This record gives sequence, structure tokens and C-alpha cells, in this order.
Amino acid sequence: MSFRTKKSLGQHFLTDKNIIFKIIDAIVAEKEDRIIEIGPGTGALTKWLTEKFTNVHAIELDQRAVKVLKQEIENLVIHEKDVLKVNWQDMVDPVSNDVVIGNLPYYITSSILFDLLENRKLFSEAILMMQKEVAERLVAEPSSKEYGILSVQTQLFCTPEILFEVSRNSFSPPPKVTSAVIKLKFDKPDLSFSDQTLKTVVRTAFNQRRKKLSNSLKPVLGDYQPDGFNFDDRAEHWLPETYAKLSEHLEQSDRLS
Ligand code: SAM
Repeated sequence: MSFRTKKSLGQHFLTDKNIIFKIIDAIVAEKEDRIIEIGPGTGALTKWLTEKFTNVHAIELDQRAVKVLKQEIENLVIHEKDVLKVNWQDMVDPVSNDVVIGNLPYYITSSILFDLLENRKLFSEAILMMQKEVAERLVAEPSSKEYGILSVQTQLFCTPEILFEVSRNSFSPPPKVTSAVIKLKFDKPDLSFSDQTLKTVVRTAFNQRRKKLSNSLKPVLGDYQPDGFNFDDRAEHWLPETYAKLSEHLEQSDRLS
């Protein structure tokens, strides 16, 4: 099959069967559970997904790829859409264990991640190929240079695990960077504060990551410094749980408008 890949859509198709099977094997789901693939392209993963699962949906923006999928793959529900405009509530099967999977278009990896994290209650897990550098940020520990907003939010909202790295040569055309497959398990209990409060606190803290938190958090806290927190620290030294504790505290004390 000849298909002219588009750089602007992040099209790097998987050609390495070993990697394809490792991704499929990493899915923990029953045969009838809904599997939602982001960016199926011409079906490198999709073909095998539909052999193993009976309730596969795919979201693809490129109508040329949609045409190929329609011709070549049976038992697939295709949504010709921008994944960033999907209403996830409408996409999931409310009676199944929904799993998201995808070799992501790298130009929108972070936006897709934030979107999935926001909708985490709808899914049991996500298995995602992304730039290794982004995967490392998701699992990064405090005080490392990779630790930031994405690390704190990911680690509070789910359990992330890097499964394996993938070389550039496993794709056609090869991307510029090494990739990694990560599993996000949406197994965390509900939080006692809103996502919005946490986002405000974490973004404000990391906005000036070199400053002491007493300074960087001023736009949120003013001069208020509740007990039990070290505001002489910098953003990168606080654990995700400390950000959670501060968010909870702020909501309970009605400090955030
Ligand atoms: N799954 C295929 C594979 O592994 O060979 C293709 C993966 S390729 C890295 C990313 C896919 O995402 C491409 O098919 C691309 O057309 C699609 N894509 C890019 N932007 C998208 C968007 N905003 N919404 C949905 N799909 C998108």
C-alpha cells in the first residue's frame, strides 16, 4: 500500500511487528471491552486490535487514512475527528472497561495527556506511545530536572509506568527522537479537591520554578502561608502529595475564589 505520510499530522507509522505485539499484549481488558485507538493511521495496531477485541473504536483526523481503514479493516468503528475535540463521555461504552491506546501524534502529546487525565474516570487504563522525553516527565521524581506540572498532575490522577523504549527505526518515516510506551492506570481514588484548584496551584508554582514558593505562589496565596508547608522550598522539591494537601487546604479554608 502506498501512502504519502504527512509531517504536519505527526505521521510516523509503526513497522516493527515485535513492538506492535508488545503494545497489544500490554492491554489488560476482556474481549468485549471497548478499546479506543487515537490516531490509527493506516492500521498498524488497529488490525491486531480488531482480531483480539470485538468493540474497537478509532479516532483519526486524516480522511485518506480513514479511507484505507474502511477498505482494509472490518469490525471497526471509525470517528473521523480531531482527537482534541472529542467528547469522551460520548466516546466510551458505559458498561465496559474502556481502554485508550495509541501511537500518538507527537505535536499534541501534552494536550492529549491533559485531556485524558481530566476524563480519567471514564477509562480503566491508557497505553500510549510518545516521545521518551515526555514519558520521563510523567514518571519524574521531585528534584529531577524532568519534574514539573505534567509529573505532579499525572502522579496524582493515575499510576504511570514506562513499559519499554522504542527506537526511531521501528517507524516509517523515523521520528527525530526515541520513543517510549507508557501505561497510565486510572486506579486512584477520587480527590477531595477540584482539578481546577490543583492546576492553578501547580501551574503558579512552576511558572517561576527557580523562586522560593513563598514568592512564586504569591498570585494564589498572597501573604497567607498555612502551617505544615515549607514555603522556603522551590516548586521542584515538593512532592505531588504536598501540592494535593495545599489544594485541599485552600478549598477548605475558602482561600481560592
Ligand atoms: N497508529 C498508527 C501507527 O502506529 O502506525 C499511526 C500513528 S501516527 C504517530 C499518529 C496518527 O495520528 C496519524 O495517523 C495522524 O493522522 C493522526 N492524527 C494526527 N493529528 C490528529 C488529531 N488531531 N486527531 C486525530 N488523529 C490525529
